[in-house]
Parts: sequence; C-alpha cells; structure tokens
Amino acid sequence: MATNLSTDIMYLAGVGPKRAELLKTELGIYTLGDLLYYFPFRYVDKSKFYKISEISDDLPYIQVVGKIVRFQEVGVGRKKRLTAFFSDGTGVMELVWFKGLKWVSKSLKPNVNYVVFGKAALFSGKYSIVHPEVEPFNPNATNEYVPLQAVYSTTEKLKSGYVNAKTILKLQQNLSALIPDIVVETLPAYLIEKVKLMTLPEALRNIHFPISTSLLKKAQARLKFEEFFYAQLGMLHRKSTRYLKVNGNVFAVVGDTFNKFYSQNLPFSLTGAQKRVIREIRRDLGSGKQMNRLLQGDVGSGKTLVALMSMLIAVDNDYQACIMAPTEILANQHFETIQNLLKGIEVNVGLLTGSTKRSERVELHSQLESGQMHLLIGTHALIEDTVKFNNLGLVVIDEQQRFGVAQRAKLWKKNVNPPHVLVMTATPIPRTLAMTLYGDLEISVIDELPPGRKPIKTTHFTDRKRNLVFGLMREQIKQGRQVYVVYPLINESEKLDYKDLMDGYDSISRAFPPPEYATVVVHGKMKPQEKDESMQLFASGQAHIMVATTVIEVGVNVPNATVMVIESAERFGLSQLHQLRGRVGRGADESHCVLLTGVKLSNESRRRMQTMVSTNDGFEIAEVDMQIRGPGDMEGTQQSGVPFDFKIASLSKDGQILQYARRIANDIIEEDGTLSLSKNSVLKHNIEKQAQDKISFGQIS
Ligand code: ADP
Ligand code: MG
Repeated sequence: MATNLSTDIMYLAGVGPKRAELLKTELGIYTLGDLLYYFPFRYVDKSKFYKISEISDDLPYIQVVGKIVRFQEVGVGRKKRLTAFFSDGTGVMELVWFKGLKWVSKSLKPNVNYVVFGKAALFSGKYSIVHPEVEPFNPNATNEYVPLQAVYSTTEKLKSGYVNAKTILKLQQNLSALIPDIVVETLPAYLIEKVKLMTLPEALRNIHFPISTSLLKKAQARLKFEEFFYAQLGMLHRKSTRYLKVNGNVFAVVGDTFNKFYSQNLPFSLTGAQKRVIREIRRDLGSGKQMNRLLQGDVGSGKTLVALMSMLIAVDNDYQACIMAPTEILANQHFETIQNLLKGIEVNVGLLTGSTKRSERVELHSQLESGQMHLLIGTHALIEDTVKFNNLGLVVIDEQQRFGVAQRAKLWKKNVNPPHVLVMTATPIPRTLAMTLYGDLEISVIDELPPGRKPIKTTHFTDRKRNLVFGLMREQIKQGRQVYVVYPLINESEKLDYKDLMDGYDSISRAFPPPEYATVVVHGKMKPQEKDESMQLFASGQAHIMVATTVIEVGVNVPNATVMVIESAERFGLSQLHQLRGRVGRGADESHCVLLTGVKLSNESRRRMQTMVSTNDGFEIAEVDMQIRGPGDMEGTQQSGVPFDFKIASLSKDGQILQYARRIANDIIEEDGTLSLSKNSVLKHNIEKQAQDKISFGQIS
C-alpha cells in the first residue's frame, strides 16, 4: 500500500508498535497526518548565543554558553532545590532545579562549558532559568543547530517511555522527508496566488523546521488562514444553500399597525442604531429569503423595541410572531412592557409560561391555532408540541445563550415555511467569536445607548470596607433611589451559597432596619408567586433594597434603582458582572456599581475587577473575557456545537486573519454559491469532507 497521510504512525521510521501505542493513547496521534499536524508550541532561538549581560525579561527561549561556578542546595524534604551559579564572563545567572537534584549534581560538572536553553526570568534581582535544558558545548557542531528549533509538548507517560520533545522532533524529521510524497495542496492555485500564500508542503515543512523567523511567520499565516477559511467557507456555503432551498415568508408591506405605533405610541425617538437595525431587519423580511439574524446590543440599548417593531411588521402581513424569553420573570416583564407600548392598537398579545393556568392555556392554544392571537410572549413553554400556530412568521429569541441549538431547530418546525428568526443577545461577544459561532447568521449591532444615560461609576472594595458601601446605600436611599445586593449562586455548593444569601439578607436587614427601610429577597428556590410578590414590591418602589441571587441577571428593569452591590464579585465571570451592572443606570440619575471581594485575589480575578472599573463598554469587556478564558470557555460557546479545536489559529490573537479569511470566503460564495465552478472543485471536495468528518465524529462521541 502506498504511504499517505492516513498511514498508521507505526510505519514511520523510528516509531514501531510500542511507541505507536504511546503516541495514540497519549497524544491522539494515529496516522502520519496526525503527527504532521501536531504542531510545536514554541521555538527556541538557536540562531545566536546570548550573553548573560544581554538578557532581558522579554526574550523568548534563548541559549547561553558558560560554566557552572558552584552548586548550592537549599531547603529540606520536598522543598529542597538545587541552584547552579552559571557564568559566561559577562555576568552570573542561576539555574534552578526542584526535581531530579541527584541526577543533576552527579552529571553536571563545574568549570565545563555547557549550552543552556530556557526562558530567563528576573527573580529577586537576578536572572534565572528553572529546569533548563543543558548540553555540553561543542564549538564544532554549531551547524547541527537550526536557527529556530521546534519544541513539542509531551506527557509524563511519554517521557517515561523515552518519547520526549527531542524524540518527537526526530520523528518529525523522518516524516518531513515524506512531505513531497504524501502532502497534497488543499487550496486552489488561483487562491494561493491571489492571497500570496505559502504552499501547503512548504508551510508544513517550515512549521516544524523553520529556516528563519520570516519563513516561520509565513508558514503560520498559511496554516491559520486555511483553518479559518474552511470554517467560514463551510458556514457561508451552508447559508447560501439554505437560501436556495428554503423559501422565506415575504413580509411585503409595512402597514397600519407599524405606522400607527410609530407615529402615535412610540414614547421617544429611536436611536440611530435602532433605526439602522430595524432597516436591516425590514430588508431581510421583505426579501423572500428566510431571515436568520443575530442582534447584539449591550444591556439597556433598547432591543425590546426593535423586536416589537419587527413583530408588528409580521402582523401587518397577516403573520403571527412570538418572543421567547429565558425566564418567567423576563417573559412577564416583556408582556407588561409590550402591552403598555401597544395601548390603543389592535393587536392581541398573549402570555404563555410554566405558570399559565390550564384553562387559560387551552384558550390560548385555540386562539393561536385560529390566528386570533397575534403576538405570543413566553418561555420555553411556547415551543412545546402542543402549541400550534395558525401562521407563525417571525420568532424572536431573547438572550440567546440560554437556548440550545436543538430548541432553535424545534421552532423551525412550527410552520410550513420556517419562520424568520431574530436572536437577541445582551452578552456582547467579540467580533471574531461572533463570526465563528454565528457565521451562518447575519449580524446586527446596536452600538449606541439611548440618550441621557450616564456611565455607571464602578468601584472595587474589599469586604472590610463594607461600611463605606452601606454609607453609599443609605445616601442613595435617602434620595429616593433603590439598591440591589447580589450574591453568587454556583451549583456545586448550592447549600452554602444559599446560606450566604440568607446571612447577607439578615445582616442587611440589621443595618437597614424596618420600618425605616424595606428589604426583599429573591432567589431561585422561591415559589414563582413569592418571587413575583418580592419583585413587585421592588418594582413599585415600596422596597428599598433587593437582596438576590443571579435570578435578576437577565432583564429586570427598574429605572429607579441606582446601586448594584455585587458580593463575592471574584466568583463571577466578566460577562455576568457586566450583565448585573446593566441592571442599574437605566434612569436619569448617576448610578453606582460596587464590587465586593476578599482581600486575596488571583491575578485573573484582579484583572476582571480592573476591567470592570475601567470600562462600561460591553464589547471591550468581552474582548478581555476572551483573552482571559479563551474562546472555548466563553459563555454560550459550549452549547453552540461549534468546535473550537483550531489547531493553530487563535480567535483571540488572529482576528485579522479571520476577517480576511471570511472576506475571501465570502467573495467566493458570492461568485459561486454552490461551488460548482471547476476552479472551486477542491474547495467543494474539502468542505464536504469537513462536514462528513464532523458527522462521523458526532456519532462516535
Ligand atoms: P435591552 O436592550 O437591554 O433589552 P430594553 O429594550 O429593555 O434594553 O431597553 C432599556 C430601556 O431603554 C427601556 O426602559 C426602554 O424603554 C428604554 N429605551 C429603549 N429605546 C429607547 C430610546 N430610543 N430612547 C430612550 N429610551 C429608550
Ligand atoms: Mg432585554
């Protein structure tokens, strides 16, 4: 059998059955192709020897030639460490070992020339390298060193089976000799020329054995581009075939309901961003194509109004529309808001949630089926099979993250022609992530807040300064304002969290005693009715303080509330903190957000607090969030079904390449939506293969 990328790794020179087994179980490397795409995680600069006097903190992995002057052992037992003082005549640095001390002190000799490799770090005024690689210096053998040497990650098990980073490098060397025979270009020639890319065989050789930094960069760029490009092309191709296959409901007119609402009921003028987005949506709805649009807008940017006006267009065209919210509280609130906004306009609005009474439900079902009910507002309850519409034309999903892909699919089946879908999210995500997660959706952004909003003043206090916070609360309450105090609720220790909340409620009730102050509590364990009562007391202004868990995270709108106190803020993620903060700052008065944390904070938590204090911009916060957590851990990405296993490209670092790749993919799809032109046959073949791989992977796991 001819050797190719799928040949078993066992047959590579230097591998054999035993190593093959290790590579498979430890690194998931089964084939030659797997190894070829097992990329280094860094490179050591072996182009020069650095002098100790030249070393600075920002250098990459470097090499230094010198001699060990003396050894020193400090500490006892497990804390024992060995330091070697290493000199090259220009200075002295320290080499430090925490493990394998015996072996090191036996095999390394003072006053012999060694080359040490590693990343030097400044530690109490001196540079040191922890666990350096050390080799005897051989002045005649410098040719053997490539300028940049690839370093691969390994595991303990691999190392004990004598497969270390060097072994993998050696295997890569054996493999790279086969590249001309086994690697086939995966991009069409015209594209390589247009984008000025390195060819695939060249890129794969240079990623493992770069001759220079600039060739390495070119190789990386090629491989990153390709990863992003195929992901985007796949999505855009899917989108274009969907358009070809699926008819959209045509909302041809903007009629009386919309116009009457616009001229008589709209309580304020729309922001420029709201107008732009409504125009974008209107264009989609009239196009004959089925709309799939994501609407991103920071908390308080006025998405509800955009949703409502879109739904009115549906009504004007004799279609029904629904809006689905993630919680009952939010569904109720939407229902009230929308009913208020629609006063005097003949549109029937229904509410359907888990607590809708059976009799009402039956009535509602029949009104929906007959078409008498125009707009339905609800929770998950409205996608149950028993709910049948007469002619559902538009579905609005509020707060996207909480709905899974499966639920979205269910909605599609509610009509002959699938309804238009508008997904709204108040958790801004970085552009690069949006393109990857929702690459097959159109994206609209409301990037402007209604006029008159004052930025929220955010401060970070440690627990010990609680009295200052109480002072701020008193002062604001005296001015007639209201306060939220939020506690984290994290499932693993639900009991403890609940205790925290109730303790907090007690201590606040003591600091703010009735009858002068009224405090309510809201949490997930309360019966819906109790919850509603508390919410109502707060919304109507009768209660001054609401102590709550994150049930209030989504959607609650009490413009008179001006203080948000977040307890144990270090336990919240950035996007959650930003969401919570968005509950205040909705009225004309200046608002405050107080982040309370313990004294000892991890670097990451500190960065989160600093970010919150320094900016109110949800998109900026989302960028930092992605840098801290990585795109795969961002809220909403797990359920998305989108794989984040880019091998080399990074959503947080390679945004420009991504945008470029998307543009190129888009150009291709615009010219050739079905990829039928012969110059694009490679592309078609590869995205079909990509889709296939995804399916078979899905079946395995
Ligand atoms: P979100 O985008 O978070 O869902 P909402 O739709 O709840 O925001 O709107 C937040 C508040 O801003 C509401 O009280 C709403 O009435 C108000 N609002 C919306 N649009 C405007 C506007 N153009 N001018 C003034 N206030 C507005
Ligand atoms: Mg909202």
